[in-house]
Amino acid sequence: KWIFLNGRFVPEEDAVISVYDHGFLYGDGVFEGIRMYEGNVFRLDEHLKRLYDSAHSIMLKIPYSKQELSEIIVDTLRKNNYQNAYIRVVVSRGTGNLGLDPYTCKEPSVIVIAEPLSLFPKKLYETGIDVVSVASRRNRSDVLSPKVKSLNYLNNILVKIEAHLSGVSEALMMNEQGYVAEGSADNIFIIQNGVIKTPPSYVGALEGITRNVIIELAEKEGLDIREEVFTRHDVYVADEVFLTGTAAEVIAVVKVDGRLINTGIPGPITNQLLQAFRQVVTEDGTK
Ligand code: PLP
Repeated sequence: KWIFLNGRFVPEEDAVISVYDHGFLYGDGVFEGIRMYEGNVFRLDEHLKRLYDSAHSIMLKIPYSKQELSEIIVDTLRKNNYQNAYIRVVVSRGTGNLGLDPYTCKEPSVIVIAEPLSLFPKKLYETGIDVVSVASRRNRSDVLSPKVKSLNYLNNILVKIEAHLSGVSEALMMNEQGYVAEGSADNIFIIQNGVIKTPPSYVGALEGITRNVIIELAEKEGLDIREEVFTRHDVYVADEVFLTGTAAEVIAVVKVDGRLINTGIPGPITNQLLQAFRQVVTEDGTK
């Protein structure tokens, strides 16, 4: 496996980074997760926009133009002969001294890793998953915007730990006011009486690319879709619940905190959107 690391392709075993890298020392950096389906990189421009916006927001200058980075990503996929892959792009502040000061870091580190991935076993896309809601809270939106996909994922990791302690693989995070924000690495949608709802970003949700694709697809299919705040209770009594993410794709949730969602099987609108999503990922994309 070839990994792009600071300007060159290196074999996996040589893809190492300094202990003085502020990405490692402080989580100072940004990242993206992107998918390639059947030779097409899905929504690459949107992912690059979010990456550059995230970097800009934390005053990190990516040392490549979007076009150059896009070529690096495609080259990484070609070099590894992938047709289907998950791509991780990481840009950290780079190597500095032990202090917090980012101005000691001369050059950002840029890494592109690609590998085949399926987050959940295939069967779960037919049966749906169980989730729990957890005590960990989404970071406050007024400090670091939830739109910034930064390397600070400790909250999300605590969510994962709580999920595992409850015997499930995914969990829901609330924000400080108790409104449902998102999963550990996915956005949430609920459907009630034919109305599809997802929390607005300001509640504390990353503006997911998959989320935006689902909003587009739902509108195209003539479905009623809205960005709206909701509580855990609304999730419990929803007709359908599903999660979206680059890694998770579109997956139904059939149980939340021990409460069955409706009859406990993926609902028709979720399935309709999953089918529409599966179709669009193989049709759209950057070759
Ligand atoms: N929320 C969080 C916290 C994430 O890390 C991700 C994954 O990237 C998502 C939501 C889903 O976003 P996307 O659909 O862009 O992958």
